Amino acid sequence: MPHPSHAPRTPERRAVIVGGGLVGSLAACYLAKRGWRVDLYEKRPDSRKPDNRDSAEHRSINLAISERGLSALRRLDPALEARVKDLVIPMYGRMIHALDGQQTSHRYDVFGKHINSIGRGALIQLLLDEADRCPGVALHFGHEFVQADFDSGQAVFRDAARGGEHVTVGADLIVGADGAFSQVRQRMMAKGMMNYSQTYIEHGYCEFSMPPRRGDFALDPNHLHIWPRGSFMLIALPNPDWTFTCTLFMPWDKFGALAADGDIVSFFRTHFPDALQLMGEDRVHAEYTANPKGSLMYLKCSPHTHSHRAVLLGDAAHAMVPFYGQGMNCGFEDVEALDRIMIRILRAGGDLGSSTAALTDKQLRQALDEYSAARAEDTSAIVDLALDNYVEMRAKVADYAYVTRKYLEGL
Ligand code: FAD
Repeated sequence: MPHPSHAPRTPERRAVIVGGGLVGSLAACYLAKRGWRVDLYEKRPDSRKPDNRDSAEHRSINLAISERGLSALRRLDPALEARVKDLVIPMYGRMIHALDGQQTSHRYDVFGKHINSIGRGALIQLLLDEADRCPGVALHFGHEFVQADFDSGQAVFRDAARGGEHVTVGADLIVGADGAFSQVRQRMMAKGMMNYSQTYIEHGYCEFSMPPRRGDFALDPNHLHIWPRGSFMLIALPNPDWTFTCTLFMPWDKFGALAADGDIVSFFRTHFPDALQLMGEDRVHAEYTANPKGSLMYLKCSPHTHSHRAVLLGDAAHAMVPFYGQGMNCGFEDVEALDRIMIRILRAGGDLGSSTAALTDKQLRQALDEYSAARAEDTSAIVDLALDNYVEMRAKVADYAYVTRKYLEGL
């Protein structure tokens, strides 16, 4: 059945989206709503199928979705925002855990504004389902982008189901939503004058789980829990199954030292005794041994676009460290911002409809130029803020005088 909120499409305008992650799947829904025919190509198999669940690259199990991200869902369809909100657990503040076990709540806002914990797997499934339901969208899994010719509007994919055979598709617009190591960005850099920088920080992360306690959450579920310890920290976000996902962020040399003497349990006993008691020594040991240790990097590039033909969205344009909880949220905001600019230029050209597939190449170029000028600057700022917030979370939140001053400044 056709999706009720979708405008009639202009079938001759085709967008090819590279990457079926959080941002690519939302972009597919937006473009389809605006009349584009959309082909989304994802290199991995369909993660919604039970056999493929483990195929997802290791990433945080849950993440924080904020108003920045929810706004983009709402603009597409308020019912979609409502469905996402059904999956979240609100977090109204930080809960700071001192070494002696004392917990102090720092609310984010006196009026109750909050962020929300959501499962990454549940959210991507919901967005892919939404894209699947949109008329004009075709999802192609097992297709890895390898090459593009932006002048002629062609993208080439390696089709895993056909033994890696190359498939060439035509596109009026190529959307690179293929994450931090974007191949679309690589091709754009080879073709135009793009500034680019990428930096790995000297810290990595490892995830753990905290089980329920007597059938309920072991800690207050409506807080983001932080154990700030100066140069490293543990954080915990709640999940709907009464567990918490805990993440240890720490300098690589400390991970290296723990690997050498192998005693993660005594490390937790020294620095996070209350968390260790709730997680259990066997679990901490087993998960530290089994779970991957992830690296953290940030990148900036400018422009985010190439002529009227290509645009980068999400991590492909501005991967950031996770300490501000804004990577995905900013990616969603990219999609909303692009849509707003396209609609404005459509209207300025006298078309009072909402089908951005009707934009001419010239108008499309104007839209992409404006988009890039605005977003490159804004996202560069948030990449920096995300880095600054690591110091805030792992050290400054433990400083009572600093926290009080910040709170009073916010009133
Ligand atoms: P991705 O999620 O990387 O998706 C890219 C997709 O493209 C993938 O599916 C990939 O398989 C596919 N792909 C890649 N190359 C190709 C190719 N050549 N051909 C075809 N397909 C390809 N953000 C928040 O907003 N809040 C948080 O609380 C938060 N916490 C985080 C915690 C951690 C530990 C980490 C690491 C990140 C966190 N983030 C958070 C950031 C968030 O995960 C990213 O910003 C978000 O996943 C970016 O989405 P994306 O769709 O742009 O890229």
